[in-house]
Amino acid sequence: MSLTDRARLTIDLDALAHNRAVLAAEAAGAEVAAVVKSDGYGLGAGAIAKRLYAEGTRSFFVARIAEGEALRADLGDRDAAVYVLDGLLDGTADRLASAGLTPVIATAAQAEAARSFGRPIALQVDTGMNRQGLTLDKARAVASGLEVSLVMSHLGSATDPAEPRNPEQLARFREVRGLFPHARASLAASAGAFLGPDYRYDMVRAGISLFGGGPGERPDPRLKAVATLTAPILDIRRLATGDRVGYGSSFTAPGPMRVAVVAAGYSDGMIRAAMGRGCAWAAGARRVLLAVNMDILVIALPDGGAVGDPVELLGPNALLDDLANAAGTVAHEVLVRLSSRAERVYLGA
Ligand SMILES: *Cc1c(COP(=O)(O)O)cnc(C)c1O
Repeated sequence: MSLTDRARLTIDLDALAHNRAVLAAEAAGAEVAAVVKSDGYGLGAGAIAKRLYAEGTRSFFVARIAEGEALRADLGDRDAAVYVLDGLLDGTADRLASAGLTPVIATAAQAEAARSFGRPIALQVDTGMNRQGLTLDKARAVASGLEVSLVMSHLGSATDPAEPRNPEQLARFREVRGLFPHARASLAASAGAFLGPDYRYDMVRAGISLFGGGPGERPDPRLKAVATLTAPILDIRRLATGDRVGYGSSFTAPGPMRVAVVAAGYSDGMIRAAMGRGCAWAAGARRVLLAVNMDILVIALPDGGAVGDPVELLGPNALLDDLANAAGTVAHEVLVRLSSRAERVYLGA
């Protein structure tokens, strides 16, 4: 039975709602804000945000101003805060104001410009990730003159609970929090939300775990897959010992074997680097990805399956974190690479 003639990306909004509830239980009273930058981790920021709003989400984060403007248009008259992580860039105050976006002030120069912004601002302070945010000294210097609605920082190593950098950043954030007693506070993203009560503060900023990525860069059975990528089998072939599959010598059959040719490739977002290590799910079992080309991939299929049958390349059986690990990347990158060629279907919209 053929589900479709090409790769299909199914986005399960009920699974999204489930994951939000898991995060909300873990956050134990802290607000669960949704990070929907990069078009909702590639899954469609508008559809994602509308469903999360229906589940109670009232705070969203994006990276770029243009993402914030698009999200505001998608949200229509829904009453929600939209934070822009890039902050208050030169010449953007009017755009931020007219779209009702809250800039997350990230540099001392932006903090200076924020004095005349005249609308709520958030402030990011760097507690040790050395990426975005004011230094502690700069934060101290601006604390008295700036009306901040949310003060936040970001953890660099939260996926590893044993990392000493976590308590170090936490100690610095305690000091930051004390500088802005009237602001709400946020330190944790998805992984940090699972580090325990000390890390939760007033708000956790959840991205990847809303979409099923485990907090420890491993599959977490509490979370459900939101994105499922399937593609049909085009052909089933038999290889003899020594036959090479696909380009170059990426795979050589160690003995006679049966393989399936599948109608998807890196154009559909499958990561080429997963070749030889990653697995798809076909005919009820995990099957090694032997080749990942632009439009075609080849899997080992010793038993079962027929031409036209769907193969799950990502989803509840071919797990996001497993694919990311096999490809030497993070779940975030796997999701944002899911391309537009695959047909998109939303469940629960
Ligand atoms: C992307 C991002 C998040 C969300 O991170 P996840 O690991 O996807 O949960 C939270 N906060 C900031 C500042 C971010 O850049």
